Amino acid sequence: MNRNSLLGAGIGLAVLAAAPLFLDNPYYIHMIGTIMIYAILLFGLDIVVGYTGQVSLGHAGLFGVGSYTAGVLFFKLGAPLWVIIPASIGVTAGFGALLALPALRVTGPYLAMVTLAFGTIIQILINEMTFLTEGPLGLKIPKPSLFGEKLSEHGFYWLVLVLMALSLVVVDRILRSQLGRAFEALRGSPVASDCMGVSVYRYKVYAFVISAGFAGLAGCLYAYSEQYISPNTYNFELTVLFLLAVIMGGRKTRSGALLGAAIIVILPKLLDDLELFRIVATTLAVLMAVGGAIGIAKKITTPKAMAIPVVGTIALAGFSFWLQSITDWRLSIFGLMILFVVYYLQDGIVGFVRSLFGRKASASGSGALAGVDLGKDAVVVAANAAHSAAGSDLLVAQGVLMQFGGLKAINQVDLRVKRGTIHGLIGPNGSGKSTMMNVLTGIYVPTAGSIEFAGRAVVGRTSSDIALSGIARTFQNVQLFGEMTALQNIQVGLHHTFDSNILDVALHTPRYRREDSAAVARGMGLLHFVGLGDLATEEARNLPYGKQRLLEIARALALDPQLLLLDEPAAGLTAPDIKELVAIIHKIRDHGITVILIEHHMDVVMSVCDAVSVLDFGQKIAEGKPAEVQADEKVIEAYLGGTAA
Ligand code: ADP
Ligand code: MG
Repeated sequence: MNRNSLLGAGIGLAVLAAAPLFLDNPYYIHMIGTIMIYAILLFGLDIVVGYTGQVSLGHAGLFGVGSYTAGVLFFKLGAPLWVIIPASIGVTAGFGALLALPALRVTGPYLAMVTLAFGTIIQILINEMTFLTEGPLGLKIPKPSLFGEKLSEHGFYWLVLVLMALSLVVVDRILRSQLGRAFEALRGSPVASDCMGVSVYRYKVYAFVISAGFAGLAGCLYAYSEQYISPNTYNFELTVLFLLAVIMGGRKTRSGALLGAAIIVILPKLLDDLELFRIVATTLAVLMAVGGAIGIAKKITTPKAMAIPVVGTIALAGFSFWLQSITDWRLSIFGLMILFVVYYLQDGIVGFVRSLFGRKASASGSGALAGVDLGKDAVVVAANAAHSAAGSDLLVAQGVLMQFGGLKAINQVDLRVKRGTIHGLIGPNGSGKSTMMNVLTGIYVPTAGSIEFAGRAVVGRTSSDIALSGIARTFQNVQLFGEMTALQNIQVGLHHTFDSNILDVALHTPRYRREDSAAVARGMGLLHFVGLGDLATEEARNLPYGKQRLLEIARALALDPQLLLLDEPAAGLTAPDIKELVAIIHKIRDHGITVILIEHHMDVVMSVCDAVSVLDFGQKIAEGKPAEVQADEKVIEAYLGGTAA
């Protein structure tokens, strides 16, 4: 957290802690307690929705599992609080794993479907398993005891506050660690995540299980808070409400989760009361008009874009005064407001306010940068001398065939790459070069043929496994993690340097601190290596194209690869940038890293490559030293004589 948000959080928590002292009304205390409980769940849900970009329609069900774990443990066994809290978290996380493991194996909307079914089934199960849950009758649970004393309403409120603050810290630490970066990366570019050794599948499941754990904690506290639980609380509406809270509050912010929780608790109550609704609608219209005016003045938005939202909110305010009774209109108004947020405030309310005041979403890790200033090339590439017995074959591909339907994108290609060399792979567009790289990195499984890298078979292994064994790559269409900073992009490549688990991360153990600061130092070193040292905190998507390509190379180097695959690194670069690139490729080779270079710029190929293979229509038509290849008749005919120089 940066200093401002730390201060904000401190003040907020202090106000919340003092609330029972000046708020006499137990109704409000209970309401704030409920908001905090929902916030715990939303912190977790945001990991799945905001960071990994998956949709869960099962969080009300998981919330129910947490509640009923607490309820049943108390009702059947009279278990104490210190047993019930971890049990609720554990059991719910277990259910989360059961759901996520099969559902996330397949990409697409599977998780949404499976969790939707889960929500329904959980409700039925709670209803039917009367021997445990008492079915529709529900369970009664008194407020828990702590240190031998039964907690009062206020005591319980403070317990919830403490647990909410703890959840906030833990979630924040998780999201700022290598785990959070993995979650964010797999959304930014799944294929690049896998090729950086960060298994998309594994971390999607991990995110969901963590999220389920928080839902379990929230559910458990909810059971104590209501002192009575019954199956119909945990229905589909609640699940939708949770999702909307994340979207309305603003994904990827903890303040957004809190705000979202407040909205879904308070808004339905507001909409019960016509007078209140009029006040809210009027305030909203005024805020919208003022916000719109600031936005237009600051050129963040245009009058055209603001017209509908401003007119819409003013119309809503007018409508509220025309209404005689609100009961019939409640749901429609609620729905309209939600639609409005989804359409016009895609970064949620917190995101919108931030953009008005010109504050960027917090960039994790950037705080750690202060004071780190490494000389050029300080910590660049771990010495590869150990595995570079120059001259031997590092990669041997034999008879590789890659068929897409009837098209043989690669047709019986053999490729031998010697350690410590730069091996060029050239050929006209569509000749199968990128496909070859995708086969080498496990993105495609070849139809036939064998590939051996450093003595181990490649075919059949996952991309992340292949990456971790020492093959790093860049992509023809740059695949950065756009919403992450330049440094964070590289830190994803450094994921393999972390042994810390979630406990290390939550507790900031010495091991985690050591690994984290090492990753920052290495990351900065790599940024300097490619000349991007000054752009560490810039979001990757905001970098100029040429710099994005260099950043991708630095990220690939973070893997400590033995083999680096570069797919048209000079494409779209200006002449001075290309010169710089050539220098960088030379430096990479000097560090003992073998390179396969796909490139259209013949001068680059000729000046850096030790050997060149030429593909045409998926077949290898020539191979040898650059000069030999350049003079080869078949090559001239297929390629050099045709398109390029
Ligand atoms: P290059 O990188 O040499 O320009 P590619 O390897 O990208 O060429 O493509 C080689 C051929 O394989 C092209 O005809 C392309 O359309 C085809 N191809 C590549 N990937 C796929 C795919 N996933 N499905 C179908 N055809 C593909
Ligand atoms: Mg290509």
